Amino acid sequence: MSSVSQSVKSLIRPELLALRAYHVPDSADMIKLDAMENPYHLPQFLRDEVASAVAAAPINRYPDPDPYALKEKIRLLLGLPGGMDVLLGNGSDELIQLLALAVNKPGAALLSVEPSFVMYRMIAIFVGMRYVGVPLAADFSLDLKATLAAIHKEQPALVFLSYPNNPTGNLFSKDDIRRIIEASPGLVVLDEAYYAFASDSFMPHLTNYPNLLVMRTFSKLGMAGLRLGFLAGSEAWLEQLEKLRLPYNVGVLPQLVAEKLLDNHSVLLQQADQIKVDRETLYRQLNAMVQVYPSEANFLMFKVSDATRVFEDLKRRGMLIKNLNGGHPMLTDCLRVTVGTPAECGKFIEALQESIS
Ligand SMILES: *Cc1c(COP(=O)(O)O)cnc(C)c1O
Repeated sequence: MSSVSQSVKSLIRPELLALRAYHVPDSADMIKLDAMENPYHLPQFLRDEVASAVAAAPINRYPDPDPYALKEKIRLLLGLPGGMDVLLGNGSDELIQLLALAVNKPGAALLSVEPSFVMYRMIAIFVGMRYVGVPLAADFSLDLKATLAAIHKEQPALVFLSYPNNPTGNLFSKDDIRRIIEASPGLVVLDEAYYAFASDSFMPHLTNYPNLLVMRTFSKLGMAGLRLGFLAGSEAWLEQLEKLRLPYNVGVLPQLVAEKLLDNHSVLLQQADQIKVDRETLYRQLNAMVQVYPSEANFLMFKVSDATRVFEDLKRRGMLIKNLNGGHPMLTDCLRVTVGTPAECGKFIEALQESIS
């Protein structure tokens, strides 16, 4: 063994050595339906506006550490109840990390359900926090009894629930979530990454629960490349989290472009509406071929008889989706496809048809 790899092995934390890096597959020349991106470009007038705003941007200066105008637009457009504030993150992934860092006293636990968004567990490992994953019921609804029992036993400082859930696509029962919030001694964060495609939100309930925060991201709405997420909640929580936020976590360009896009919020909402319509078409087509699960997000999870073979075959046909097989026992033979443009979805259905026949 070389001396470099020896010192790597002796210095890096063992739980980090044991992790596999988050793998982003090469998607050059592929139809990319693996990452819940909005498939649509911005209209030309908006691209022109963005271009001139970017041309005039003061990129020689550090960004505004507290962009009031952008935060005010978010408060007004995204349905925040009065008195609630926002904390901006470099994507919502950064906010998950910030929350974990903030409450990670010795022995503290982060609890979530499984299968769900893998970053909850990963970030717990990153920050050296105890992680508790409660299995969902067989139909991917919350197992309320098991979840409440785990909360009682583990007293988690932080609970994450993805609403709708990734990768299963369903919205958990609102009553179940209320019970979880009420039973939790710690902070409960509702991760509403897919809010634009869902029929419900906990945003209006922020004022009812002192231990509730709602996290959202603009990534799935068409700004994945900007990296902008936010946490909504009361000032008492946010002012503490603010201390941990690195001062310039959201750059000059993302701030500026996000403001322009929010000035044209209806453009993005129309794209989201189109995606919801196309999700229903895709659901019906998949339902005629395979077992597909209901979704309130911009993706569909479905099950085939040999997921890894189908995944690889689709890849050979130029179609990149997500293979969930092997990620969790409940996801055996499951695949996840992002709702693309109607043309992309059509090609996907054609390729899948050939792949499974
Ligand atoms: C995509 C996703 C995120 C991360 O979003 P970013 O803002 O791009 O970091 C968070 N939570 C869930 C459930 C997601 O699916």
